[in-house]
Amino acid sequence: MVHFIGAGPGAEDLITVRGAKLLGEADVIIYAGSLVNPALLNYKKESCAVYDSASMTLEQVIEVMRDTEARGGMTVRLHTGDPSLYGAIREQMDELDKLGIGYDVTPGVSSFSGAAAALCAEYTLPEVSQSVIITRMAGRTPVPEGEELRKMASHGCTMVLFLSTGLLEDVEQELAAGGYAPDTPAAIVYKATWPEQRVYRCTVSTLAKTARENQVTKTALITIGHFLGDDYERSKLYDPTFTHEFREASK
Ligand code: SAH
Repeated sequence: MVHFIGAGPGAEDLITVRGAKLLGEADVIIYAGSLVNPALLNYKKESCAVYDSASMTLEQVIEVMRDTEARGGMTVRLHTGDPSLYGAIREQMDELDKLGIGYDVTPGVSSFSGAAAALCAEYTLPEVSQSVIITRMAGRTPVPEGEELRKMASHGCTMVLFLSTGLLEDVEQELAAGGYAPDTPAAIVYKATWPEQRVYRCTVSTLAKTARENQVTKTALITIGHFLGDDYERSKLYDPTFTHEFREASK
């Protein structure tokens, strides 16, 4: 059996209880050493073998899983954040299907949640934005037609950009082309929830400069939108004049 596990955004106590338990039972752990906090390996048992996938190909990863399975062992494949986002798990699962090896997925706290926590922010403020677009700037990995950043930006809603910290000049241009005013609030969150977490508040026109001045080149998320501003409407849910399923409005 192979367990794909979301490691969470960084802090070692932000893995799920289920994920930590499976880490403790694993005979082999393959983890993304470039992004997963190595402190998470503290959960493993002593006899567990550890592989860092940073220098491995898909074929090599599958090879380790197959060998472990052949010996009757259990593999944990530890991915940063939540594996469903930019996790490259689909291709592994398809290979495991071909080999008849069973697997399941344990979700994790994505770094976009970690970034909101670092900012003490709410992405979906009433009358400000009720949607979050999670995307990336096209780089060496292209984005499909129709998902160009400028098109995504045209909605004007909350945006969270993964994998884009090295392309911030382009990001600024695309956001402007999509209609964000230069002074729209933005923030760069570096290593959210890690001990070395840093938060830089800026605007869409100062993203590149802010990253440069603070030497942020990777492991960061770019958040954009007026959820970072001061204006919003309070929620209906907790409004005393609003009746809903669980509460009568007070007179
Ligand atoms: N599955 C992961 C994302 C993997 S893609 C998740 O759910 O978070 C890797 C990118 O995620 C990095 O380039 C960076 O943009 C972002 N990232 C991962 N961990 C981060 C963290 N702790 N703080 C800020 N950005 C992070």
